[in-house]
Amino acid sequence: MGLLFVQSLPGPKVFMCRCCKVDSASHDAILSKSFSGRYGPAYLISRVVNFTVGPSEDRHLLTGWHIVCDVYCSCCQQLLGWKYEKAYDESQKYKEGRFVLEKARVMKIAPGIFHFRVFYLRSLVVG
Ligand SMILES: [Zn+2]
Repeated sequence: MGLLFVQSLPGPKVFMCRCCKVDSASHDAILSKSFSGRYGPAYLISRVVNFTVGPSEDRHLLTGWHIVCDVYCSCCQQLLGWKYEKAYDESQKYKEGRFVLEKARVMKIAPGIFHFRVFYLRSLVVG
């Protein structure tokens, strides 16, 4: 294995892989919070980082047939969700190129920790 390039996202609201805590997506990239994944509730997300994809396949989802590929964390290979490659139904075209992230597979960085860090730095500057 070569070196693994891990991309970091600007905080404070970032989703991490629940398994290895590497950044997965920015909170700002959420298009919908009420999607259904294969294992439960999921997010529809416009951009994901640090991922690899499996082979494309036709899959029948709640909203009809789509060509999708599974999305894995590039760091620990955990399944995170899938990516829409193509939607057959005209009304579902907006999903093409978007990602579904299973809520059970990612976690939000706790804002409290970040704010504490900022507060701490600020207090150092102010004295
Ligand atoms: Zn991971």
